[in-house]
Amino acid sequence: MEVGNIFRHLLVHNEAFVKNTEVTKFLAYATHQNPYITLLTCSDSRVQGDILGKDIFNKVFIIRNAGNQFAVNRGSIEYSLFVLKTPVMLVLGHTDCGAVKFATHACVTQSKEIVNLSKSVDHLMKTDYSSLSREIKTEMLPLTIPIERGIPDLKKIQNEMKELAFLSQTNVDYQIEKALKYYGERVKEGKLTIIGGIYDFVGAYSNQLGRVLITNINGIINLIDLQESARSIIKRMPNYDENSGGYKITSELISEKVTRIAV
Ligand SMILES: [Zn+2]
Repeated sequence: MEVGNIFRHLLVHNEAFVKNTEVTKFLAYATHQNPYITLLTCSDSRVQGDILGKDIFNKVFIIRNAGNQFAVNRGSIEYSLFVLKTPVMLVLGHTDCGAVKFATHACVTQSKEIVNLSKSVDHLMKTDYSSLSREIKTEMLPLTIPIERGIPDLKKIQNEMKELAFLSQTNVDYQIEKALKYYGERVKEGKLTIIGGIYDFVGAYSNQLGRVLITNINGIINLIDLQESARSIIKRMPNYDENSGGYKITSELISEKVTRIAV
């Protein structure tokens, strides 16, 4: 799209938003906010807040960077956790992540012996990243730490789409590990729950495109323990009733959506 149209969109779409939004909604939160989720996610344009609900106004405090890295925006994260006191932090990676691909390429380039290990790596090695600016590379290079951990397991997967999703999953685990180093006490005290997820728009986890899969809760990654943890969180609902229809639906969703690409 060229700039004239983009500029027109900017004016017109915002005007439509103004007309379609009740003034009272703005007035109610004109001087304060009280979000309940700190969302750390990737800047990728395919990942948008509405995957968590139609209207996330005043609900989700969003921190974004390439590859949903904890260390890049720690100040913003701590503002949301310590000042706004959100009880949940969601670290959300996604399928087909460009930052994860870059880090995978960098890992393989640095260590020649892991070439020809898997389909996704073979494919990636044809990409030329040499023209990227130093700033872009510097921001994404720390991702080689989690990716290096994940690469040896790729040969057990043998499916390009799942291999890349697995590396995104490994990255989310690593970012949560880092967050737990600083906020582990809050998690132990029950003041904070750190959830890891992957937004899957390619069908790496299931054929339901657009799903957010929960792959980590407070550092728990063993599937049985992870599902158990999800069920115990649901029990903290004020009107929890195991016999209600709502609970049954939630329970089924836990079985389907609290999952991991296993190796
Ligand atoms: Zn990404």
